[in-house]
Amino acid sequence: MQVVADLHLHSKYSRAVSQNMTLPTMVYYAVQKGIDLLTVSDWTHPLWQKEIGSQLEEAGEGIYQLKSEIRNPKHETASNAADANSNDQNSKSKTPPRFIFSTEISSIYTQGGKLRRIHNLVFVPSVTVAEKISKALVSRGANLNADGRPIIGMSAKDLLSLVLEIDDRSMLIPAHIWTPHFGIYGSASGFESLEEAFGDLASHIHGIETGLSSDPEMNWQIEELQTRSILSFSDAHSPAKMGRELTVFEMEEVSYEQLRRAVMGNEKWEMSRVVGSRDEGKRTHNPSSHPDTQPKTHPRILYTVEFYPEEGKYHFSGHRNCKVVFGPEEIRKQGSICPTCGKRLTEGVLYRLQQLADPIYLGRENTKENSVGLLWHTDTRGKFPPYVKLVPLLEIVAEAGDSTVFSQKTKNIFQKLIDECGTEIDVLLKTPIENVARSSGERVADGVQRVRHGNIVIDPGYDGEYGKIEIWKDGEEKENDATPQLTLDF
Ligand SMILES: [Zn+2]
Ligand SMILES: [Zn+2]
Ligand SMILES: [Zn+2]
Repeated sequence: MQVVADLHLHSKYSRAVSQNMTLPTMVYYAVQKGIDLLTVSDWTHPLWQKEIGSQLEEAGEGIYQLKSEIRNPKHETASNAADANSNDQNSKSKTPPRFIFSTEISSIYTQGGKLRRIHNLVFVPSVTVAEKISKALVSRGANLNADGRPIIGMSAKDLLSLVLEIDDRSMLIPAHIWTPHFGIYGSASGFESLEEAFGDLASHIHGIETGLSSDPEMNWQIEELQTRSILSFSDAHSPAKMGRELTVFEMEEVSYEQLRRAVMGNEKWEMSRVVGSRDEGKRTHNPSSHPDTQPKTHPRILYTVEFYPEEGKYHFSGHRNCKVVFGPEEIRKQGSICPTCGKRLTEGVLYRLQQLADPIYLGRENTKENSVGLLWHTDTRGKFPPYVKLVPLLEIVAEAGDSTVFSQKTKNIFQKLIDECGTEIDVLLKTPIENVARSSGERVADGVQRVRHGNIVIDPGYDGEYGKIEIWKDGEEKENDATPQLTLDF
């Protein structure tokens, strides 16, 4: 089965996060968007932990769901319209979204004479393991009350060591690895390699998160990532932003172990079984890991859904306050000192990539359009899963209506599309364009088509400023406003 997963989110207990980031709201949005698996996120925070404990129940191995008394069945199944129209194009989830336990932890420490600020995602196989890790962090002096994404003085390597010590099925995935201030490869306080950051424990890093400002193809160019999984999640601070990046898995059933196997990759997972790591005993209770009952399909990553990396906040280099934006070309010519204030620019993802990439991995991307005009990006060597680049549906609808993502008009059209065509993922990836047009008019359909095909213009983001998407370039006008007026007042 395909499992659409967003495993980097934040709760209302993290700084700068919407008060709407509660478990029931996350579930509601997940259904609209077509996300099957979420993270509870922020599980180190004591108050949030209480909410998790009172609102979730176990629903599989390392898998949790909202308790039935909290669930609103209306929020969890397809609308009548989508039911009536039921086919593969309208695949709004019939089972409620599930949760696993992953969270983000910020490590601030000194290594090699340099201040490091690194964000990591920690995935654990159960609530019990999560509680043990929280306890261990507190006993080492961490303050878990201040922020849902706690800041600890422990190095990334020590954190990895701690979580593996508590349960070696845990996984540490470096978050948004390219961002200048908190990424493991970040220009400001990161490292030159995973090896440098994690030393002899680097082999326990089985995957990385791309972050919004990089796409998989950029990561394919890094030597040490050739054997690691490339994951994409939204890092949403508000419900509307959920699912803006996603990883789609193939699993036998939704379980933590299947997720772990998919992230580790078949080869590595099989190897760990042969070698026999010390948690082998724990695994044997799982019948699917017995050689005689090997599952038919290996859990794996099928594809990722990406933001256009130019839309991310750190794609180019620059200074926001000085209004200076440098692409890699300008940096090559002029260096990375700001011509306005004379200080060093915030060096973005593209610049950093040039420093770390291995040229032998350049040019391995192919693109292919499918029957609904969606452009798939594939690895010519077949080593990495393919991916697609998308713009959130609300943004498409907003631009189509010369409006904002906050306007009621935009929200109404978005809702009508979801009600009639399935989920946001369906509309962006699968729904035949004529169906999109029928629900929302030719202009929105044209916008979806352009986004599927990458026929859009982006002013790249830099120094914390999001890139600006233009689906319709200036002057390239709108088949006037032949767009049928929507009647939404029913
Ligand atoms: Zn982060
Ligand atoms: Zn985050
Ligand atoms: Zn400046």
